[in-house]
Amino acid sequence: MSAELLIRNARLLATVDDARRELAGGWVAITGGLVSAIGSSMDPAPDAAETIDATDCLVTPGLINAHHHLFQNLTRAYPPMTRAPLFGWLKVLYPLWAAIDEEAVFTSAWVGLAELALGGCTTSTDHLYLHPRGAGDLLAAEIAAAVDLGMRFHPTRGSMSLSEKNGGLPPDIVVQDDDEILADSEVAVERFHDRTHGAMVRIALAPCSPFSVTEQLMVRSAELAERLDVRLHTHFAENAEDDEFSLTAFGCRPMEYLERTGWCTNRTWVAHCVMPNHDEIHRLGAAGVGAAHCPSSNLILASGIAPVVDLRAAGVHVGLGVDGSSSADSGSLWLEARQAMLLAKLRNGAGAGDARMALECATVGGAGCLGRIGEIGTLSVGAVGDVAIWSLTGPAFAGAIADPIEAWLRCGPVAARDTIVRGRGIVRNGALVSSDVDQRLSEHRRIAARIQRLAD
Ligand SMILES: [Zn+2]
Repeated sequence: MSAELLIRNARLLATVDDARRELAGGWVAITGGLVSAIGSSMDPAPDAAETIDATDCLVTPGLINAHHHLFQNLTRAYPPMTRAPLFGWLKVLYPLWAAIDEEAVFTSAWVGLAELALGGCTTSTDHLYLHPRGAGDLLAAEIAAAVDLGMRFHPTRGSMSLSEKNGGLPPDIVVQDDDEILADSEVAVERFHDRTHGAMVRIALAPCSPFSVTEQLMVRSAELAERLDVRLHTHFAENAEDDEFSLTAFGCRPMEYLERTGWCTNRTWVAHCVMPNHDEIHRLGAAGVGAAHCPSSNLILASGIAPVVDLRAAGVHVGLGVDGSSSADSGSLWLEARQAMLLAKLRNGAGAGDARMALECATVGGAGCLGRIGEIGTLSVGAVGDVAIWSLTGPAFAGAIADPIEAWLRCGPVAARDTIVRGRGIVRNGALVSSDVDQRLSEHRRIAARIQRLAD
């Protein structure tokens, strides 16, 4: 049978399937948005309406971004924040972020997702936890951006309900009431959550962090997620301040708080997970919790080095996140994969983390976080037709001829040559296919100037 799209002649096709097959001269055929056949140079490939030649390229599943705050690219590399750790950093930026609206969220999401696509990402989540009063339907705005660009999207209905006056970190103007948050969450799931195989949009519930929501909201969100059968996401054990807050406010470590609020389940994936001790790592693994490792953000905010090797060994699904563009500033999953590899070596020894481990985190680990193992983050028959094609040519790759996967992550820097979502190219030859890029960037500049209170 003829395919709609055939990607062929890969130097290596890294399937990241159950057997972790690596196919020299590999090809992948996509029909109806799904992988319809796969093979090596030894197997005959089908005819196709469109063919992409991947000579001298590594072909991988599209990468998955398991943690982000897209709106934060409106305050990227904000000067006063270069020296503050997490809490001080947030307190300066909350009042600026209070000015986001539908236009700001649409444009920042479009630009942020475009940046991710250029780095080989095909599925992203977003933790949109700011819903200022009167700002409009922000979740719908960012979904519209993802649909326009053609990215697979897992936005979360984020929330904050514990303001400064009640012992939390954010100011009053950016928090909402628990009932309002839960009602709005239910509506969002009804409107946007697609349960079908190959879905392009799924919703999760995401109270922001222990220091910005009430304990009651954590408990009720977990109950609602169970009833609606959707996933749960939050920040967890990010740094020493986070641990300290938990001990002071709740009388326990973040792990016990996660357990007592009903969050320690395989429905949950958490962001960061820097601070868990040996025993807590095993409790997370036993429960089937997922963790989005955000190495650049953890480095910039000096949060610490997450115990990725130990988390993986304990059975935690470790994915990668670029985190908000105000903390990590860059939105490249290739870069996060490389940072994850380097930090794993630094923490656990030179042999502990390699490029294949990082590739697994960026693909099947992210799929575990989003509850879609076997469907996204792998190239196998029946999985989604999401593919990243990486050119391994030019001076940066000269001499790197023995192992294309190690070359991909140890040489570089690298952006994707082509990024394919559901069988459709959204990046071709290193550039976005959309003709709207310049206009969106100029809108983004205008909005960023407004949010940062600077002259355009
Ligand atoms: Zn975050």
